[in-house]
Amino acid sequence: MIENKAPASLILLFGATGDLAKRKLYPSLFSLYEKGWLSNRFAVVGVARRLKGDEDFRHWVKDSIRTFGKPSARLEEFISHFYYQSHDVSDSSSYIQLKKLVDRLDETYSLEGNRVFYLAMSPEFFGTVATHLKEDGLTETKGFKRLVIEKPFGHDLQSAIKLNNQIRKAFLEEEIYRIDHYLGKEMVQNIEVIRFANAIFEPLWNNRYISNIQVTSSEILGVEDRARYYDKNGALRDMVQNHMMQIVSLLAMEPPIRLTTDEIRSEKVKVLRALRKIKPEEVHRFFVRGQYDKGRINGKEVPAYRDELNVAPDSNTETFVAGKLLIDNFRWAGVPFYIRTGKRMRKKSTEIVVQFKDIPMNLYYKNGSHLNPNLLVINVQPEEEITLHLNVKKTGKIMETTPIKLNFSTRNIDGMNTPEAYETLLSDCLRGDATNFTHWDEVALSWKFIDTISKVWEKEKGEFPNYEAGSTGPKASDELLAKDGFCWWSDTELNGKNC
Ligand code: NAP
Repeated sequence: MIENKAPASLILLFGATGDLAKRKLYPSLFSLYEKGWLSNRFAVVGVARRLKGDEDFRHWVKDSIRTFGKPSARLEEFISHFYYQSHDVSDSSSYIQLKKLVDRLDETYSLEGNRVFYLAMSPEFFGTVATHLKEDGLTETKGFKRLVIEKPFGHDLQSAIKLNNQIRKAFLEEEIYRIDHYLGKEMVQNIEVIRFANAIFEPLWNNRYISNIQVTSSEILGVEDRARYYDKNGALRDMVQNHMMQIVSLLAMEPPIRLTTDEIRSEKVKVLRALRKIKPEEVHRFFVRGQYDKGRINGKEVPAYRDELNVAPDSNTETFVAGKLLIDNFRWAGVPFYIRTGKRMRKKSTEIVVQFKDIPMNLYYKNGSHLNPNLLVINVQPEEEITLHLNVKKTGKIMETTPIKLNFSTRNIDGMNTPEAYETLLSDCLRGDATNFTHWDEVALSWKFIDTISKVWEKEKGEFPNYEAGSTGPKASDELLAKDGFCWWSDTELNGKNC
């Protein structure tokens, strides 16, 4: 039985007035409090520049929970645990004062020296803050110390190594919790369970029975107010290096011998090590990039990426990536894993499609044509669903089949209230479970793979814009699969046609 209740702890939150804290972290913490999963002995210290003091901060937190969470009568009691220090993180002298506050709260709430340092701010500060935490004695504590760090973890392998070396001077690898919020999502966590808790799947989960796997993460939104960050990074760094590679690792890993952090992570690392390296001259064959043009979404005209605020008019940044990954091991040799992610697409969806191979001989006809392949579809968001596509007999006909879907959806179950990914991850971190956080080896291997592609793309000007906003991406993305005789299954229902 896993203990959900966290031990006594202090959360020191850098970036306490930011978007992430406001929309996700405070509502998630309050939800844990309501469930009784936070210890009664807890305190939160917010650090940022714009607010004045504790009262101001408590209003801010209350407002965030009222807007983005589910407030209750216990809100006042909850926010009485919140404290604030106005502090510029690059100002060395402020950390001494911060230490005094933290030590005082440690005593007041009997926190046993347990500390979580959460860096919810721009990555440019990660190294500076980690260094100060150590140099100014905040990490000298008799309890546990953990560093939670938001994405992006570096811009490429070199910068990721530099950042890692910097934070490793203050924290051990097992004390570093690198957030990939996709790993906190219920249906991403379900991948393991679907595979390893069902006798009908695991024996088929290999190159003898699976023809290809497709992972799509598409957004309707454009770059919104993140253009300054996004234009320097693009979809490859923002989505593929972390979220998409993590999903592929979970889909492809060997069964771990135990459900422990080390065993699961080590199986995921092996997948990344088995990823076939792409040579620079092969990038065009395996990867497609795109950038959105203007178009219509939900009946509304939306601008091209290059016309967005804070985007260079000749920007070479990709807002779409599709790729074919090959995993060179016994289980997956010859099975392509197709990944695709983009902004300003036709629908918002994160979806995994596992396509099984055709049966050796087709005895039946479906409307006189081929049988549909069996598909296992896992919808991660916004719907949380698992659907198995099968063929059954068409009523009244002996030789004809019709496709059907066996479906499980969390939407149809009363009382099913999926926790927000951040709630799950905060709870994991407070309890010391690092399974759903990214290990350095995974970060490094992913960057190594991605760097080859980004170097080629940086050198060459993309033929942008090359897909209309509100579409399914550039034509080359469909051609990537068509060359192998496949298509993106998640588009077939939209197009009303089969592959
Ligand atoms: P944000 O809205 O820009 O917030 C930045 C925070 O840092 C603010 O609280 C700001 O407060 C504080 N700050 C900036 N400079 C500071 C300084 N010199 N000293 C002290 N505090 C300073 O950023 P965000 O969207 O919350 O993102 C935070 C991190 O989470 C980033 O790494 C981002 O990539 C990651 N992330 C965010 C989201 C999201 O949904 N927002 C999702 C995934 C990952 P003051 O201005 O008051 O000082």
